[in-house]
Amino acid sequence: MTKEELSKSFHPDEKGFYGPFGGAFIPEMLIPNIENLKKNYLKVIHSETFKKEFKSLLQDYAGRPTPLYYASRLSKKYNSHIWLKREDLTHTGSHKINNTIGQILLAREMGKKRIIAETGAGQHGVATATVCALAGLECIVYMGEIDIKRQAPNVARMKMLGAEVRAATSGSRTLKDATNEAIRDWIAHPTETYYLIGSVVGPHPYPDLVARLQSIISEESKQQFREKTGNEFPDYVVACVGGGSNAAGSFYHFLEHPQVKLIGAEAAGMGLSSGKTAASMALGETGIIHGSMTYLMQTDDGQITEPYSISAGLDYPGVGPLHAWLNKSGRAKYLSVTDKEALQAALLLTREEGIIPALESAHALAALNQMEIKPDDNVIITISGRGDKDMQTFMDQLNLV
Ligand SMILES: *Cc1c(COP(=O)(O)O)cnc(C)c1O
Repeated sequence: MTKEELSKSFHPDEKGFYGPFGGAFIPEMLIPNIENLKKNYLKVIHSETFKKEFKSLLQDYAGRPTPLYYASRLSKKYNSHIWLKREDLTHTGSHKINNTIGQILLAREMGKKRIIAETGAGQHGVATATVCALAGLECIVYMGEIDIKRQAPNVARMKMLGAEVRAATSGSRTLKDATNEAIRDWIAHPTETYYLIGSVVGPHPYPDLVARLQSIISEESKQQFREKTGNEFPDYVVACVGGGSNAAGSFYHFLEHPQVKLIGAEAAGMGLSSGKTAASMALGETGIIHGSMTYLMQTDDGQITEPYSISAGLDYPGVGPLHAWLNKSGRAKYLSVTDKEALQAALLLTREEGIIPALESAHALAALNQMEIKPDDNVIITISGRGDKDMQTFMDQLNLV
């Protein structure tokens, strides 16, 4: 494949395909909703009014640009140069706010009055409830019954923000079931409802929409890196991958520069062969999940496997189609990180730099141990969120009590 063809393929074609992945495999009743979104999303996000308001809210409301921080003690430890892109410092504590601000502006522009969303860790639910309060729109968040229990502080935040939290009680009662419920709701309320998806997953155009909104991460880090080092490009960009939105945003403006190696860290859970894992890239096969063709974990007869990770934000059996394509084309490499490795990496960052990362982000840090980095390499790692929500897990698992 020529460089030009490769570069073109990082953006989906007319039908939403990245190579063989993506598309829009949806029930007929959703076709008008998706067509309407497809017709409007690029027009809206390229308009001057949108760009101005998005930029202003990212800056004054979400606290952007987030710093690109040189982690000197961590760098010494790894005998390399390690930079942290601090999405943990945004309003609501993770990169998810970038996407929800963008989509709420889009929903408002499209005249929608009722917002629905799915959430796993509760981070996307909180980010959605936040922007609904900001825009004065009704908000319903679907969440697995199990996640409601293990993420109680985020449930409380959503309620305080005025959102209604509805429990998904089928299947594993986690993220994928919450997503199914949200899709069901959208089918039942097609005209007034906007479905605000939290990652680069779902039918086209969502993966492209969310990747574009999150691309602010690499837009900033590319410029910050240049200003701080005088070098054009880092050697590596590393990010964790649940559905893949913070990774898509972290990679976006580096995709067309093959000298920048891109590394995604997915959750191996208890280990790749343990049966308790969420490593859809390492173990998945091609199939359709939530409207898109991608890698997902399934049984021999095609049933979607229950995913497992200690980190609720990575506990998803599929992965966004862009990542499936980056993996297949060889542009990015994906490493699997176990619960244990992530916990140790979180503790290391906390003790070396005084930064408590989200468990999800700790997977990206732990990937360093599997990389062959050299002393003069520059590595940018995205810290997708802060660890406040995971404190109970840290206390229990790291024997800190
Ligand atoms: C939700 C979440 C993730 C995983 O989602 P992606 O779409 O893969 O980015 C990672 N980190 C944090 C802090 C999250 O809240």
